[in-house]
Amino acid sequence: MERYEIGLVPGPVTVPPQVLAVYQRNYGSADLEEEFFQLYARCQGLLQEILATEHQVTIQTGEGMLALWGALKSVLRPGDRVLAVANGVFGYGIGEMAQQVGAEVRVVGFDYDDVPDPDQVRAAALEFRPKLITAVHCETPSGTLTPLAELGAISQEVDALFYVDFVASGGGVEVRVDDWHIDLGLLGSQKVLSLLPDLAMVTISPRAWEVVEAVGYAGYDALAPWRTALEQRFFPYTHNWHAMASLEVAAQALLDEGLEAVFARHREVAAFCRQRLQEMGVPLFPRREEICSPTVTAARVPEGWSWPQLDQALRRRGMAVGGSYGPLAGKVFRIGHMGSQADRALVARGMDVLEEVLRAGPRA
Ligand SMILES: *Cc1c(COP(=O)(O)O)cnc(C)c1O
Repeated sequence: MERYEIGLVPGPVTVPPQVLAVYQRNYGSADLEEEFFQLYARCQGLLQEILATEHQVTIQTGEGMLALWGALKSVLRPGDRVLAVANGVFGYGIGEMAQQVGAEVRVVGFDYDDVPDPDQVRAAALEFRPKLITAVHCETPSGTLTPLAELGAISQEVDALFYVDFVASGGGVEVRVDDWHIDLGLLGSQKVLSLLPDLAMVTISPRAWEVVEAVGYAGYDALAPWRTALEQRFFPYTHNWHAMASLEVAAQALLDEGLEAVFARHREVAAFCRQRLQEMGVPLFPRREEICSPTVTAARVPEGWSWPQLDQALRRRGMAVGGSYGPLAGKVFRIGHMGSQADRALVARGMDVLEEVLRAGPRA
């Protein structure tokens, strides 16, 4: 097993020791004990504060994709119309997932190095009249951040539910679920929260709950049982107490630091990372700096290098960054500076290593 001293992969991110300590304790029966139900309720409250929402937040066991699938399956019936706003791997991917669930999907697509144009989304929504509009806040594979307020207003205008994947931004970038009319907001534990990849969280608006009830989807990832689970002291399965305890520690740490301070830390580290890359002559992938995400930086693999050469050269010096997927595979590499990795000293060390490696050249 390899360990890297400089971990800059854009998720799962490095888990801090105070979180790992939580996993070394013993807990009781998560399906029976009042103490667990109280913990779950506190975690819901902390997430509501972080995501600026009064909507109920469900916390399920599973990796972030469980939230993406469970929310789609819980509100869609075969033939329902879905407008997928896409400018990256996850945006286009969610459109494909909705299709697999049997929805009639129209994709309003944009380049991977750009963000969606609200006017085009609005025109498509007015024409197509979808039941659900899907979007992605931070497109982790391409490092962009999509403004959501206008897309949320469009969803209201056409009376569609607004489904947003903020897995890679929530907690590190301002997300205003209620103000932006997000009906289904999706979060995972292994990005900004810097936990193990074992919790999937969804914010659910009252009108989304009505659709969930009407659709009546049942399954391991179904949202329906969570509506009353806490009240009834009956969850669909024995929950992960360790993970829930770690969530409380991480969420409370963000609030103790202060959300404004957390967001500023992410913005500053990201700006520093972009500046260092540009000084080295490494081109950023997004076409404009204003659309770069504060949680992850995507850059082009420098000329003269292949991605495997660059990756191996960095790993030999104890540093791990991320590659990319789909049409970006081999062309784009990524530095994850979210959560525990939104640390200027860590990113500075990483940029020093990258600079040395680039100077030595691919044959060194
Ligand atoms: C990480 C992430 C997910 C969850 O996907 P995994 O790759 O399975 O961790 C979903 N959406 C976005 C935008 C993500 O960054």
